[in-house]
Amino acid sequence: MAKNSPHNIFFPKELHQVFNALRFRSRAILVAGGTSFHGYPSSNCLNKLEIDNEDIINLLDIPELKKVRATDYGLDIGSVVSLAQISQISPKRLPLLLNVALKKLLQYPIFFQATIGGNLCLKPWAGDLSMVLGVLGAQYELKSPSGTRWLDSARLLDSYALPINPNEVLTRVKLPETSFNEAFFYSDFHAQYPQNPSRLVLTARVSQNILEDLRLAIQLPGLPTVTHRSIEENLLGKRLPFSKRDISSVLSNIKSRYSAYSEQASGQVAKILLILLDYFRRINMTDYNPW
Ligand SMILES: Cc1cc2nc3c(=O)[nH]c(=O)nc-3n(C[C@H](O)[C@H](O)[C@H](O)COP(=O)(O)OP(=O)(O)OC[C@H]3O[C@@H](n4cnc5c(N)ncnc54)[C@H](O)[C@@H]3O)c2cc1C
Repeated sequence: MAKNSPHNIFFPKELHQVFNALRFRSRAILVAGGTSFHGYPSSNCLNKLEIDNEDIINLLDIPELKKVRATDYGLDIGSVVSLAQISQISPKRLPLLLNVALKKLLQYPIFFQATIGGNLCLKPWAGDLSMVLGVLGAQYELKSPSGTRWLDSARLLDSYALPINPNEVLTRVKLPETSFNEAFFYSDFHAQYPQNPSRLVLTARVSQNILEDLRLAIQLPGLPTVTHRSIEENLLGKRLPFSKRDISSVLSNIKSRYSAYSEQASGQVAKILLILLDYFRRINMTDYNPW
């Protein structure tokens, strides 16, 4: 237990101790890096109400959750591994998209303390890595006293928060090996808080100027997520730079997915489409210039 703290803080060494603590202390909460309990962005705080008068179970001392392992499949990352530690993994092993996203998050003071599990379990909406890992096809391992279950991140792209039960702990992220050589990540999480964020995540494989594979996800506040499947047929197999016609059809495809929504949504959609177009132009994926 920590001195001078209004809370009881536990540092279990094994998962079964976490489950015991959760069982006997119904108002106990799990903490990993603890960054969501910091003042954010000023005196505000993501989890302030939650933390008042609750017991805290800190996950950082559990060896099983701290492991990073290269496997035949790709990478296994324990849930309390920090964003900073993940950014140290060899770029040969780390998917380019995750590397690019971590470089963006590096500008925030949370970077060295925040964990991958905390980012994914953040409420009321999951952190930025949920989109990145969803596009990369990661699997999430959850453990509880009744056993282990796996969640497919790709199926969660439309959910705002991870569907995790109160007695469950996210223990591991299983990341498949990929061969993407293009990646882009945009999120306004930091600027927009406490609104829910807009995000655009893209990764692609381009070989000899041909687009061989593409994954894309767009998330706008309160709207369904647009994924690559709806646009890939327009672009896959095409030579770069894409023509004005190809790009227009991609943009109007995305726009049409949101056509049923309000005028406020159309402003958000326009902004995200400009960000996408700007990226295509910067890496010479298209010579289309709307300006
Ligand atoms: C200044 C500032 C800037 C930020 N900028 C960003 C940003 O740009 N993008 C972004 O995505 N987030 C951002 N955040 C939000 C947050 O800090 C991060 O998402 C961070 O990654 C959370 O990780 P953590 O380890 O600190 O989680 P914690 O704060 O320890 O926990 C977060 C939540 O997850 C639960 N939890 C943690 N680990 C587990 C587990 N293994 N199993 C089950 N539940 C668990 C906790 O109970 C809590 O509800 C920011 C926060 C601050 C203070």
